Amino acid sequence: MAKRTTAARSRKKARGRARKYVYFFGGGKAEGDRTMRDLLGGKGAGLAEMTNAGLPVPPGFTITTEVCNIYYERKGRIPPEIDKEIAANLARLERMAGATLGSPENPLLVSVRSGAKFSMPGMMDTILNLGLNDEAVEGLKRRTSNGRFAFDSYRRFIQMFGNVVLEIPKESFEHEFEAVKAARGAKQDTELDEHALREVVERYKEVVERRTGRPFPQDPHVQLTMARDAVFRSWMNPRAREYRRIYGIPDTIGTAVNVQMMVFGNTGDRSATGVGFTRNPATGKKEFYGEFLINAQGEDVVAGIRTPQPIQELERVMPAAYRQLRTITTRLEKHYKDVQDFEFTIQDERLYMLQTRSGKRTGYAAVVIATDMVAERLISPKEAIQLVDPEALNQLLAPGFDPDEWKRIPTVTRGLPASPGAASGQVVFSADAAVQWASEGKQVVLVRRETVPDDIHGMFVSQGILTATGGMTSHAAVVGRQMGKPSVVGAGELEIDEAAGELRVNGHTVKEGEFISFDGLTGEVKIARVASRPSEILQVLSGALEPSQSDIYQRFERLLSWADKYRRLGIRANADLPDQAELAYAFGARGIGLCRTEHMFFGEGRIPIVQRMILAETEAERRQALDELLPLQREDFYGVFKAMRGSPVTIRTIDPPLHEFLPKREELLVEIARMEALGQEGEELERKRRLLGRVEQLHEFNPMLGHRGVRLGITYPEITEMQTRAIIEAACRLSREGVKVVPEIMIPLVGEVKELRDQKAVVQRVAEETMAAQGVRVKYLVGTMIEVPRGAVTANEIAGEAEFFSFGTNDLTQLTFGFSRDDVGKFLRVYQEKKILEKDPFASIDVEGVGALVRIGVERGRSARPDLKVGVCGEHGGDPASIHFFEQAGLDYVSASPYRVPVARLAAAQAALSVKVGD
Ligand code: ADP
Ligand code: MG
Ligand code: MG
Repeated sequence: MAKRTTAARSRKKARGRARKYVYFFGGGKAEGDRTMRDLLGGKGAGLAEMTNAGLPVPPGFTITTEVCNIYYERKGRIPPEIDKEIAANLARLERMAGATLGSPENPLLVSVRSGAKFSMPGMMDTILNLGLNDEAVEGLKRRTSNGRFAFDSYRRFIQMFGNVVLEIPKESFEHEFEAVKAARGAKQDTELDEHALREVVERYKEVVERRTGRPFPQDPHVQLTMARDAVFRSWMNPRAREYRRIYGIPDTIGTAVNVQMMVFGNTGDRSATGVGFTRNPATGKKEFYGEFLINAQGEDVVAGIRTPQPIQELERVMPAAYRQLRTITTRLEKHYKDVQDFEFTIQDERLYMLQTRSGKRTGYAAVVIATDMVAERLISPKEAIQLVDPEALNQLLAPGFDPDEWKRIPTVTRGLPASPGAASGQVVFSADAAVQWASEGKQVVLVRRETVPDDIHGMFVSQGILTATGGMTSHAAVVGRQMGKPSVVGAGELEIDEAAGELRVNGHTVKEGEFISFDGLTGEVKIARVASRPSEILQVLSGALEPSQSDIYQRFERLLSWADKYRRLGIRANADLPDQAELAYAFGARGIGLCRTEHMFFGEGRIPIVQRMILAETEAERRQALDELLPLQREDFYGVFKAMRGSPVTIRTIDPPLHEFLPKREELLVEIARMEALGQEGEELERKRRLLGRVEQLHEFNPMLGHRGVRLGITYPEITEMQTRAIIEAACRLSREGVKVVPEIMIPLVGEVKELRDQKAVVQRVAEETMAAQGVRVKYLVGTMIEVPRGAVTANEIAGEAEFFSFGTNDLTQLTFGFSRDDVGKFLRVYQEKKILEKDPFASIDVEGVGALVRIGVERGRSARPDLKVGVCGEHGGDPASIHFFEQAGLDYVSASPYRVPVARLAAAQAALSVKVGD
């Protein structure tokens, strides 16, 4: 996600100029622009860009992300030259605004807003109405002749400052607010008059004094410094760090601080505040989308304090401002060539823009929007490819409910359809419970009154998120869409009793652990466990649905066909059986990068034969068992070759240690003991005893480093012989049927060229014999997997024998780090927390270490054999960041699991495009 190279470049650029830490915007001109997100953060860059475009943006200035890093380096102290620069910009803002911070006659009020390069919804803090104190509030009242407004602003300020800067829990303030409301019989906050709000302010000040032992700070310059530092501190709060960990955003990029003149949506009924999107972020539909509140400020819309109105209503109540908003946002979308998520405030019918950024969207919406924008000629296909996160395609493949079954179950309530997809699971009421249950392998649905940023870890592991309050832009909605989690929000009939561990809805009670299901596209909620069914795209691919009946399938295909035009890397799939190969082909794989033959051994009725092979005491006995396996393997290979329709198929000879095909020692011991106790002497018991003996014989201290891979083929060449014969016979048969096949026989775990030479001789001898017997010649290749570090280092020698390489990055990672894949879970989390590792190296390639071995392998291999074909078949073949690396390393293809093939196609195109433009 993060591109360090551009960050480094723009930092350098900044250093080249005399150091500048603060960037002004206002009066139609800004010192920054959209390209400066590293330095100004997304929000600051957007405010600058909108200012330059002549849009109505309140003036202000941005303190750069560099200052955030300085703040941490110097343990919270900001050097005086930066303070001076801030003061100079504040003076400039005061001149432009014609108001002065702290002035009792004409006070300037500002917001202090966080904003990093990547938007992190609700993770950090913002303070509004800063500059108010006991005197200034009276000044504000006099100037506006609106005492209610002045005190509404002041109480908001004390609460936000108290919470964010002084770290007083929100509830302490809310408690007082509710008390005043109750005393006056007010339902809504707007029903409180000046007098009531004065009382709220007094109570809030007491809360501050009680909690901190000091009065509320009255000096606006002190307020400003404290607020700035609190924003910097919020960068490192636990929820922000957790968010960055999930999304792979480095801690080092820091946040900017925006100080901006306030405009007021809370001056009365001709004022409002709102948020919106230029297109529907859930479905992608081209419709103006959003919500607003009359006589409100900032966060009110998303905080669920009052229920906001749909933005279309704005046209009725303030037509001029509405029209202007539509014109501006349409322009912004054209300018940025992407859906915009914007914030605005209307003060006495005058519109102000407060933020614009690329809108987060569901995977479904991402594909719809990208293809629509090409059809509208807003962007080119090449730009469309870059607009879609490859992981979005994965969301499109997620299952839905069987519509018939879904229809049969009554709907108990409905909420707002915030993020599409079918969710079914056991109810949990807290994020921690979600994490706990999920770690026990349970599928959970997180049900909350509303979610808060602290819930993010629980949302991440849930099947879906269901809330009782909040609108389409609430936290649960925004984060749900971004994570691709089905979400239904604002299901107001839900009564959630967290303490009792139950929810009640329309006469039903659902306890923690009971099943609930909902549809994120319609908002329907049902009390049941409902089986899901394949996504529309999979239905088309399996032939159950005509392509012409599925709009989303057609868009998916269109987008991927554009991607195919721009990618350089070939895309193959890891598939072991014919049906997987068929699916992979349908997803667009053109070749199998890894066919694991041993998976065929687990097929029906095969295990006893395999076990007989393993138990054999003599070679003759072993050959007998292998003869029985031969026709079965031949059929599988025939099917896989056929599914690939002439594209290359890489088949790996047997790899895992043999004990994997035998029962567990403990199980055998128990069974034998039981049979003995029951007096069941006889052949079966004898067999079990022999099996146990062999299991004990095969026991290894470290199977991953044991008798496996090429070592098996060398000690039992008859296995390699049988597999070669099965492969070549299947190929000959297809060749006779007029179907082209290119088998690539791959020897695993080679670290020394002589290992490969030994096995290659076996393969070639048997292939020749087989072709002679069949009377057909087929072309085949013999190559190896590079997955032992020694293999990468001696790649030049190995390439003397190997006709192709495939990097087995799973084992290569395991052996390079010396981490067992199966045990890494015990310490990886701590490694990540301590920043020893940023990412799980088994999920995304370790570029510096494992990647260096890949580069060495490619370079040395090709030095010996310039036309050496090189691919990768580890899990990393389906990971976008790793694909980016493989593009740079000059591999010929990546191989991913069938479901990841679409992701890999798109990621490969993005990698090719970005490598070309040098980003
Ligand atoms: P977030 O990143 O959490 O959205 P923001 O900094 O965008 O936080 O601000 C929170 C809310 O306050 C937004 O609704 C925004 O529009 C509003 N806001 C921020 N600055 C101002 C301002 N100068 N005048 C009026 N409203 C503002
Ligand atoms: Mg915002
Ligand atoms: Mg391996």
